[in-house]
Amino acid sequence: MRLSPAVSTLKPSATIAAAAKAKELKSKGIQVLDFTLGEPDFNTPEHIRKAAIDAMNAGQTHYTASSGIPELRQAVCTAYQRDYGLSFTPAQVVISNGAKHAIHNVLASLCGPGDEVIIPTPYWVSYSALVELTGAKPVLVPTTLESGWCLSPDQFRDAITPATKLLMLNNPCNPTGAAYPIKTLEALAQIAVDKDIPVLSDEIYEKLIYGDAQFKCFASFGPEVAKRTIIVSGVSKAYAMTGWRIGWSIAPLDLSKAIDNLQSQQTSNPCSISQYASVAALLGPQDSIASMHAEFIKRRDYVLSRLREIPGLSFANPGGAFYAFFNVESYFGVPLGSGKTVDNATDFCTALLEDAHVALVTGDAFGAPGYVRLSFATNIENLRQGVDAIAKFLKVA
Ligand code: PMP
Ligand code: GLU
Repeated sequence: MRLSPAVSTLKPSATIAAAAKAKELKSKGIQVLDFTLGEPDFNTPEHIRKAAIDAMNAGQTHYTASSGIPELRQAVCTAYQRDYGLSFTPAQVVISNGAKHAIHNVLASLCGPGDEVIIPTPYWVSYSALVELTGAKPVLVPTTLESGWCLSPDQFRDAITPATKLLMLNNPCNPTGAAYPIKTLEALAQIAVDKDIPVLSDEIYEKLIYGDAQFKCFASFGPEVAKRTIIVSGVSKAYAMTGWRIGWSIAPLDLSKAIDNLQSQQTSNPCSISQYASVAALLGPQDSIASMHAEFIKRRDYVLSRLREIPGLSFANPGGAFYAFFNVESYFGVPLGSGKTVDNATDFCTALLEDAHVALVTGDAFGAPGYVRLSFATNIENLRQGVDAIAKFLKVA
């Protein structure tokens, strides 16, 4: 088949590919310590599962409005009012098949050939691929460990050209765990207003914040900022609902209408049953967020303390999300595991998987050569065995 130019250069999502590789080894009976996928290991809380069963039994098994059931669009507004004091109308909300689909919808509705989209690196794997699919050009702006992996206001200003269509911000960030200081966010928001640049703020990890870090929704910095903000989030991470595939965009009305049109032509509504479950997630008891958060704090503290004991690994403490993102360059060119040497993070991950049966994701996938990502959305015993195996592979244990 002659593939379209848009998909012929498209690579599979590196996070999903890394997880598939680990699964393949597991299917051969090999015990793999898998830290690839960023998804909570907890089951979805019971009251949410029950809402799905009730919805099925009540016959809510048909098409819904393509932009989602009114109850869920309203529930999203109620949750942002309750949690952040922000007022949105249901017409601004489109419910999609996960936050990833919501990002695609926003990009496809705003961008095209000739446009530039500013993406701070390291970035989540799908950002540049989804921008390229629209024909627009990703403009990658490198951030550093020293700056806490945050885009600075100067960097944002300098990256803007007459072709700039959008800034993509991910706060807290996958893969770095960076949680933007409020002052930095405010300064970025001011530039967005001064230069009239819309901002897609991917806030899928909004409920997973640690230590002194604080979260503020990007739309919080006044009406001029809100007019230019597109929020993307969803239930996947906060409520352990990755498989239910529910995310949303909250956008100015004209964009929201365009996204609804696109979705109505492309996928129609996301799963009706998942939508009813998501209403229960957003409006029901919120204590499961707190209990999962408490568990993530323990896991984060454990894994960071263990990684700190290994010489030569450098990282910033993640202020959010559930990833440890560390530099392994000091182990390039020296014999590892069964004696192999490597000179890049991708080969490092391959050797680690083959020799130690530990699966991480290479930083190359996130525009961060020399780094690897470990998802700590798994229990402490797995983390203990995993870091033990990494230390042995690095010959420091
Ligand atoms: N944005 C970021 C930064 C993510 O890490 C993910 C990973 N799941 C998504 C969006 C997509 O979320 P969903 O599973 O709801 O599509
Ligand atoms: N976002 C998660 C991750 O980065 C899930 C995988 C994906 O959707 O790419 O691992």
